[in-house]
Amino acid sequence: MDISGKRMVENLKAIDYVRLSGTEGEAKAAEYISSKIKELGATPTIETFDVPFYTIEKVKFEALEPFYKNYEVTGYGFSGNAAKDGIEAEFIYIESFDELSLKRISGKIVMFMGGVNASIFEKLIKAGAVGFVGVCGSHLDKKGTFDLEERMIREHQLVNGVIPGVCIHVNDAVSLVDKGVKKVKLTLKQNETTAKSRNVTTIIEGTDFPDEIVSITAHFDSVPFSHGMFDNGSGTVNNLEMLRYYLKNKPRRTLRFVFCGSEERGLLGSRAFVEQHSEEVEKTRLCCNVDMTGPVLGKDIVRITGEDKIISAIDYYAKVIGHVATVYQDTYPSDGMPYANCGVPAVNFYRQAAPGTTLIHCRYDTLSRITAKSLESTGKFIIEVMNTIINADCFPFERKMPDNMVQKVTTMLNNMPGNKKKDDKDKAENAKK
Ligand SMILES: [Zn+2]
Repeated sequence: MDISGKRMVENLKAIDYVRLSGTEGEAKAAEYISSKIKELGATPTIETFDVPFYTIEKVKFEALEPFYKNYEVTGYGFSGNAAKDGIEAEFIYIESFDELSLKRISGKIVMFMGGVNASIFEKLIKAGAVGFVGVCGSHLDKKGTFDLEERMIREHQLVNGVIPGVCIHVNDAVSLVDKGVKKVKLTLKQNETTAKSRNVTTIIEGTDFPDEIVSITAHFDSVPFSHGMFDNGSGTVNNLEMLRYYLKNKPRRTLRFVFCGSEERGLLGSRAFVEQHSEEVEKTRLCCNVDMTGPVLGKDIVRITGEDKIISAIDYYAKVIGHVATVYQDTYPSDGMPYANCGVPAVNFYRQAAPGTTLIHCRYDTLSRITAKSLESTGKFIIEVMNTIINADCFPFERKMPDNMVQKVTTMLNNMPGNKKKDDKDKAENAKK
């Protein structure tokens, strides 16, 4: 099988930069993918869609009492703006979000471990906090080798209002509590707008069953500071290689390739695609999503959002061809989910890295953690599995979603960023009735 890990690595080198949603980096990668599709002999289309976007103009966090100190922090995107000259308030650290702790935070700036989700954000606002401090990092981090996380509030978390927040390193968090800081000042000024993001797509018409479509997806965007070679440059180049293969070995069914933007901001690219192509999605029988391959040590996993039959079939086939893979039924927080939400079974391929060998969502997600050999091994496996489906005499599975998966997919999408504010309002309305 003409699948080359070397070619995949060459393509990875060409997108080895930060490809953050709505930025020039993401647009540049879209152009590269598009040029590659053309070079392979297919017709690319770049489809744009709007994404929420913010720029932090000013952020500061100062201890005022019992001593003065300026702490390094990052601002939480979409957490609004502090008063013009910042907010001065009493500082409190809470260990949990239980009733007793929440009773103590009214009018204060609250620090807690980790980040915020919809439920935490709602509790903070309802309890009257005026600002918040989330914590990231590890005490092992050394200066100059670590990036403070750039976090953001998700649109659907804003239904109850907004309070400004910052993210601080855990070593500073320890010192704030240990030294008994009582009063702090939080300054945050940001510009909240929208930006353009993109999907890059192409189609290969099936020779025998053109109306039965298999969608092949991978996201190409990354997060701040990350060149995203593993997550998910690897899936991107894997799917370019798949495209190359199927242009040479014409598929019996139609293949729709979607290289998705803004996955890291809440699957915004795949959500936009299924919305913009609802008729095509009706004819789509399966989504094959690839998100993270390439580490030397690890295990190939096929997580299937679909009925048991598909799991048994792929598990059986992997054994027949002698490829070790863990196959099970579950959701996977990636671009297969908007398809699953439309009733299209999603087969998610990835390679789970052995602990300690690779990191994602930080500056250490680099090409050095990935090899051509590993990319090639998983890539061949994916095509072998997909060939049995794409070229079968009749489609081996129904286009349906079992009830337990419907439930899980809905919950996952609702809790994710990118969920439309409107849906939450509808939900709130429904809850009232
Ligand atoms: Zn990913």
